[in-house]
Amino acid sequence: MIKILTVIGARPQFIKAAVVSRALRGQGPDVREFILHTGQHYDANMSDVFFDELDIPRPDRHLGIGGGTHGQNTGRMIEAIEAVLMAEQPDWVLVYGDTDSTLAGALAAVKLHIPVAHVEAGLRSFNRRMPEEINRILTDQVADLLFTPTASAVANLRAEGIAAERIRPVGDVMYDAALFYAERAMARSTILDRLGVMPGQYVLATVHRAENTDDPERLRAILRGLMAVARERSVVCPLHPRTRGAIERLGMLDEIGRALILCEPLGYLDMVMLERQAAVIATDSGGVQKEAFFYQVPCVVFRQETEWVELVEIGAAQLVGAEAERIQSAILLNPPEAEAGEASVAIFGEGESGQKIATALRQG
Ligand code: UDP
Repeated sequence: MIKILTVIGARPQFIKAAVVSRALRGQGPDVREFILHTGQHYDANMSDVFFDELDIPRPDRHLGIGGGTHGQNTGRMIEAIEAVLMAEQPDWVLVYGDTDSTLAGALAAVKLHIPVAHVEAGLRSFNRRMPEEINRILTDQVADLLFTPTASAVANLRAEGIAAERIRPVGDVMYDAALFYAERAMARSTILDRLGVMPGQYVLATVHRAENTDDPERLRAILRGLMAVARERSVVCPLHPRTRGAIERLGMLDEIGRALILCEPLGYLDMVMLERQAAVIATDSGGVQKEAFFYQVPCVVFRQETEWVELVEIGAAQLVGAEAERIQSAILLNPPEAEAGEASVAIFGEGESGQKIATALRQG
């Protein structure tokens, strides 16, 4: 029997873990997964909805750690995860992406000599002011198996001196998720009616990266750009809790609420539906950038750089930073071309990443 202890805590990790968890269950009774939720994201619409919609088993342990600073969260998580690892004695610790939960899980495990597997390894923005970048670099250094989504991720790891034997190019689990849940979203989601928008007639915008929400100048410029767009076209904006707080502090929530169609964070199926039917997607999210491409929707990115460099290289995504005029003209006048199909397979794998990860873990 192989026991895999999965550490998750934030929205994008639930979506990635849904794919791998299903593949692990498909391995039969020899593989057992223990799910540990750190509590990093705790609102019902940032956490529970994903377990319900994506058929993720209920966490075996919930640590309830969230809401603090990076140092507080990471420190408290390491201590609590270590105790669970000592009690559970798993064969693998499986971590995802680039959050404080990822790093805490990896550090707690490696100090106990428990092998660590990292899903979505090797991504780099080369911007060390991003908390995610630090989490990625350190997690990749200590992980035993690094599951990479793209060729550039492999190249980044090799450039950092990580041995080829530790790297497993498996493709992107988010592509598996996009393929698996697309039909379910079309069948179940009523979000367009609920928001009163028509297919192909609106822009979908999300903002949540700290570099944008924690910098009043950048956030104000992005919001000004979106309000200018909204004079000509509906703009739907599901608000991350951090972003709502930041807009409130700027005193702009009423003004934004009049100009844009604001809503609470959405479940995955509603989000997929909105993405598929959008005219343009504008975002600073890594996951949403890729989903725009998978669903062949032009994507404008509120950042100076991206980890998903392939999307910019092939012209599916355009980096516009946080400049109101550039945002407005990229969305309204000159959206990038969005071709997917064959290109998805070439860049992100064949939609079998979850299966490949489960097999690799089983074989050790
Ligand atoms: N997402 C969602 N509801 C929302 C916003 C995003 O389900 O209101 C999904 C989105 O479709 C994608 C993932 O969350 O699959 C991306 O997560 P997020 O933007 O929080 O993080 P990132 O990908 O930037 O790490």
